[in-house]
Amino acid sequence: MSSSPMPHVLLVSAPLQGHVNPLLVLGRHLASRGLLVTFTTAPHAGLKFGHGDGATIDVGRGTIRFEHLKGGDLWAPDDPRYHDPTGGVMRHIEEAAPPVLAELIRRQSEAGRPVSCVVANAFAPWATRVASGMGVPHAMLWTESCAVLSLFYHYFHSLADFPSREAGPGATVAVPGLPPLAAGDLPALIHAPEEFLWRQVLIADIRSLRETVTWVLVNTFDELERPTIEALRPHLPVIPVGPLCSGTENHGSGQDDDDCVAWLDAQPPRSVVFVAFGSLLQISRDEMSELAEGLAATGRPFLLVVRDDNRELLPDGDHCLAAATGSDSRGKVVAWCDQARVLSHGAVGCFVTHCGWNSTVEALASGVPVVTYPAWADQPTNAKFLADVYGVGVRLPKPMTRDALRRCIEKVMGGPEAVAVRARSAKWKAEATAALSTGGSLEKGIQDFVAAILSIRA
Ligand code: UDP
Repeated sequence: MSSSPMPHVLLVSAPLQGHVNPLLVLGRHLASRGLLVTFTTAPHAGLKFGHGDGATIDVGRGTIRFEHLKGGDLWAPDDPRYHDPTGGVMRHIEEAAPPVLAELIRRQSEAGRPVSCVVANAFAPWATRVASGMGVPHAMLWTESCAVLSLFYHYFHSLADFPSREAGPGATVAVPGLPPLAAGDLPALIHAPEEFLWRQVLIADIRSLRETVTWVLVNTFDELERPTIEALRPHLPVIPVGPLCSGTENHGSGQDDDDCVAWLDAQPPRSVVFVAFGSLLQISRDEMSELAEGLAATGRPFLLVVRDDNRELLPDGDHCLAAATGSDSRGKVVAWCDQARVLSHGAVGCFVTHCGWNSTVEALASGVPVVTYPAWADQPTNAKFLADVYGVGVRLPKPMTRDALRRCIEKVMGGPEAVAVRARSAKWKAEATAALSTGGSLEKGIQDFVAAILSIRA
């Protein structure tokens, strides 16, 4: 029997915004049930992460501590190499983080709070290896959909016939619990070159799922993906713990967020087009120009996120955004905002999204219709589900043109299809709200996981 009164869960994330956010929300749920939670990642200046090394926050009956991975051969947080667009940061962390994490786990025991369980995000297989090597039970938080997990699982274990990258839309794969999916609907890493680092990391993750991981927590909820969850359970110990919607965790600066909300407060209900492409996606100069002109052509108010690293791509400095925003201040452009808070504002009528899974879940939970513009990773699959399975939006063909953008926005905001799209969006919002309420899918998932941790400590 362990000496500390409550289990101590160590959350480990790769330093990616879309991974840190849901893991932190999971941490809040675990802490609110009285668990001691320590959150660790290798923070860098580009990560919107409001909690300094050594910070603690009380949540309900429990506490979250923040203890950064640092020292050893890890780069300092402001090292520009963290922005390496080729993903070399992943290789560096893969090599440098394991001894630092092992030391951090040892320190917890010395401090009288031994780690009962490690929960690592996907794309951090090194964390799973460290936990496994030290004999600490461990879970993975899968931060993409259960559909995407099932596709990877079936592909990398050769359990289904997948269409080749070149196959047309007529050739589809049949995976239990999923609709037929064409090559263009599959997660990009399935057909990525073998030497692509992210693909190698993913393969290590998928292997560890079958070999060493004790539980697979997924940011989803029963009502959203029931057939997929049930079909995957004979293969993997899946526990749905979503929707893990980010709240106060991913603020840019508080002032920006307050400005956005004040601006939204002044707009009519469901009038605003909100545009954000997540934390990583780079769009081209041409796309940016078409986006700005297309937004201007809708005649609707819009809130556009252009991260600082995308702003450099603007043709003629900020000229095209100035053209879009015009002198009547119809548009607002920010470098970052609290997206979940924006989406839940009643003035937002449509979300133009790259379809990252967090953005997908946040859109569904807020009941906001979408225009999908996926680029890579799991985004094509999420776009397919948003448009064709959940029925909450339309797909914007690539490459974006101003006319196509304007037409798509009109379809979900004002055209004859808009009423049906809004009704389906409202239905998903109600399902997500039920999943989040007492006795809902999220509470059940968290309870199952906490019970499992308690049972292994006994
Ligand atoms: N996000 C945000 N403000 C922004 C843009 C993004 O808070 O201006 C958050 C968004 O709410 C989501 C995360 O960043 O939780 C992005 O994750 P997602 O999976 O959607 O995309 P990724 O960044 O991984 O491509």
